[in-house]
Amino acid sequence: MGNQKNRPLTYTRQVIPRDQHTVSRSILSEPSKKVLNRLNNAGFEAYLVGGGVRDIMLGERPKDFDIATNATPEEVHDLFRNSRLIGRRFRIVHVLFGREVIEVTTFRGNAADADDDTDADDRKTSEHGQLLRDNVYGNLEDDAIRRDFTINALYYCIKDFSVVDFANGIKDLENRQLRLIGDPETRYREDPVRMLRAVRFAAKLDFDIEPKTEAPIAEQAHLLTHIPSARLFEEVLKLFSAGYGEASYNRLREYGLLAYLFPETARALDAGEPDALIVQALQNTDRRLQQGKSVTPYFLYAAMLWPALQVEWRKRQDDGEPVQPALHQSIAKVIGRQVQATAIPKRFSGPMKEIWEMQMRLPRRQGKRAYVTLEHPRFRAAYDFLLVREAAGEIEPGLGQWWTDFQEADDRAKEKMLTELTSDGPRKRKRRRKPESRA
Ligand code: ATP
Ligand code: MG
Repeated sequence: MGNQKNRPLTYTRQVIPRDQHTVSRSILSEPSKKVLNRLNNAGFEAYLVGGGVRDIMLGERPKDFDIATNATPEEVHDLFRNSRLIGRRFRIVHVLFGREVIEVTTFRGNAADADDDTDADDRKTSEHGQLLRDNVYGNLEDDAIRRDFTINALYYCIKDFSVVDFANGIKDLENRQLRLIGDPETRYREDPVRMLRAVRFAAKLDFDIEPKTEAPIAEQAHLLTHIPSARLFEEVLKLFSAGYGEASYNRLREYGLLAYLFPETARALDAGEPDALIVQALQNTDRRLQQGKSVTPYFLYAAMLWPALQVEWRKRQDDGEPVQPALHQSIAKVIGRQVQATAIPKRFSGPMKEIWEMQMRLPRRQGKRAYVTLEHPRFRAAYDFLLVREAAGEIEPGLGQWWTDFQEADDRAKEKMLTELTSDGPRKRKRRRKPESRA
C-alpha cells in the first residue's frame, strides 16, 4: 500500500536478535502477552511498540503496553470480547483486563502517501496541515515512519523475541536523544501536540532534544492554539501527574510552551510573579507519586493557576474591591480564561475553587469554625495546599502546623487549642494590622 517515492531513504529495517537486546518476555505484563499471542495465533502480525519497548530497553518498568498490528480495529474487536473500539480522529481498540488497558492500534500508512490513494474520510488534514483524522492503514514499515520519535518506533516481536528498528531508534536511545522521524516542521504541523510530547519525554527520560527536532519549536509553538482544549487538558495531566512534573514544568518554560497551556500563569510569571508555589507543589506531587500516593488534577490546577489568581486578586483589591468578593470574582475570571486554553472538567474546577476559597477560611478558627472547616470535604486538599504555600515561603509558617496538631488532637486537646487561640498567641498576631503598602 502507498507509494515508495516519499519515503525517507535513511530508514532501513534493522532486526536485533534476542541475544543483542534487553527486552525480556518476563517484563511484559500477562495481558500484553495474551493480546500479542492471540493476534499472532489468529494469523496477524502483532508487536509491542512505543513506551513499552522504549522503557524496557532503558531498564524502566513501562507505564502501559501498546500493541501495533495489521489486524483492523474490527478484527481486533472480534478477537477480544473484553475490548472496545474507541476514537474517531484515530480509531483504536482498548482491550480491558481489570485495571490494565492494552491499547491496540492498526498499522498506519505513511502520511506522505496520503493524497494519492486514500479516501478523504480516512485521512483529513486542516488548512494548517494538521492531521484531523488518520485512519489510513499500512504495513509495519509505514507504521514505523509515522510514529513520532525514533525511540518510540521500536517493535518487539514475541514470536522470535527480536526487536525491529526502522528509524535508528536504538542509536538514539544509546545517545539519550529525542529525534522526530521525518521532517520536524512537517511533523509538528501535522500534530502540534508532538511539541508537548518532545518536552514530556525529555523530562521523563532526562534526554536531550536533538537540535533539528528542537529548532522549530519556538516558531511553531503557536500551532497549539488549534488543538482542542480537552486534548490539551489530557496532555497537562500526562506532563504533571506521572512523577516528573517539576522537570516537565522546567522544560515547558524553557521552550516557551507554558504560555499555550497556562497563558495567564505564563503572563503572571513574565511580569515577575514568583513561581515558588508551583515548583513546590510539583516537587510534592512527584514525591507523592514516588511513594505510591495519588495526586488529583484539581490540586495540580490549583497550583498551576495560583500565580494568575494572585495577580487578578491583587488588581481587584487595588481597585478597591473588598478582599472576599475580589477573590470570588478573580476565581471566576481565571477559570473562565483558562478553559479556553485547556478544558477543566467541572468535577475538577469545583474542588479547585474550594481549595482556593478555603485558603481564606483556614486562618479563621475561633468558636465552631475550626470544626466546620475540618469537616469540609475539601479540607485535606486545602490543608495540603496551605502546607505548600508555607513551604514555598509565601506565608509565614505556623498555621499549617496548627492544623496538623488540631487534626491529631483528641476532643479535650482540641478545645484547649481553641481556647489558647482566643486568649493570646496566633490570633493576636494575626489581627495586628499590616502597615499600608499602598500610599
Ligand atoms: P507513555 O505511555 O510512557 O507516556 P508512549 O511512548 O507509550 O509513552 P503513548 O501516548 O502511549 O506514548 O503512545 C504510544 C505510541 O504511539 C508512541 O510511542 C508513539 O509511537 C505513538 N504515538 C503516540 N502519539 C503520537 C503522535 N501524536 N504522533 C505520532 N505517534 C504517536
Ligand atoms: Mg504508552
